[in-house]
Amino acid sequence: MKLGELGEFGLISRIAANVSMGHGVITGIGDDAAVTAVTPGMQLLTSTDMLLEGVHFRRSWHAPYLLGRKSLAVNISDIAAMGGIPRWATLSLAIPKDCSLEYLDSFTKGFLSLAADHGVALIGGDTCRSNSGLIISVTIQGEQLPEMVVRRSGAQPGDEIWVTGTQGDAAFGLALLEGKIAPFRQGRGGETDDAERYLISRLLDPTPRIATGRALAESGLVTAMIDISDGLMADFEHIAELSGVGGTIQADTLPISPALQSASQHLSDFPYSLVLSGGEDYELAFTAPVDHRKKIIEITKKSGIDATPVGIVTSSPGVKAVRSDGSQIAPQAHGFTHFT
Ligand SMILES: [Mg+2]
Repeated sequence: MKLGELGEFGLISRIAANVSMGHGVITGIGDDAAVTAVTPGMQLLTSTDMLLEGVHFRRSWHAPYLLGRKSLAVNISDIAAMGGIPRWATLSLAIPKDCSLEYLDSFTKGFLSLAADHGVALIGGDTCRSNSGLIISVTIQGEQLPEMVVRRSGAQPGDEIWVTGTQGDAAFGLALLEGKIAPFRQGRGGETDDAERYLISRLLDPTPRIATGRALAESGLVTAMIDISDGLMADFEHIAELSGVGGTIQADTLPISPALQSASQHLSDFPYSLVLSGGEDYELAFTAPVDHRKKIIEITKKSGIDATPVGIVTSSPGVKAVRSDGSQIAPQAHGFTHFT
């Protein structure tokens, strides 16, 4: 069947048929508005994100199933960054003419697979025709006890700066796809090796750190938190600004994946700029008093991902990155630049 024959309401019914009721859902897709019950004593967290074809993704790189997963993952990541429990999502799509029903089925399947992984219920949305590329808009709602919510504004001078997982993987994957970094084996048949495939998969199918964000929030040990969507430097600058502090990142302590180490071997210089300023890893950056170090290592490990202290919050403003010999890594245009 063609999308045109199915129509907007047909498409919505087709999506709704695959949706199961979730936690606190009283009325889901199909009425004028969804009705949900927030857990007594908790507060509602709401975040929204837009993904535009040609700006945030390319259909030629991104299989629809993974694009569906990613469009929810980047939203769930914002709930993780607040220490919240993700609950409900809405999905709105502006669909260009050349997007087939099979494409949308695959997209929806991916979206709902990630939703199921995290216990998120799809409770509504909208669809319309787009004249210029696929546009995806997702709103996510989560909840948490008021005293557990972690904001960007609580970092204190002397706190350590931490990151979860490894840094720079997605940015390296993007650089490979864009052709800004030549694949290692390009001269030997052009195939992409395992390390490069891994890095690209971190860009196309990121993992929101919900269990870790929640465990850290509920521990009461962290003072500020953010998810790294625009690059560590740019995102830590948001914490610094809202907390009225600065920070020094020790570039040599940044956790680098074996894949990134392997894939960057043939480069003349290690790509610090990607690791510090590349975006889309969707790891968490947070701050905590130094004496919580041991407990934080335990908590994050138990939640399924390691965390690494990578710097110190300073009372003087400004965020800088230094090498172990004390030299400063030249500040550049911090933050992820969209590729068109
Ligand atoms: Mg965010």
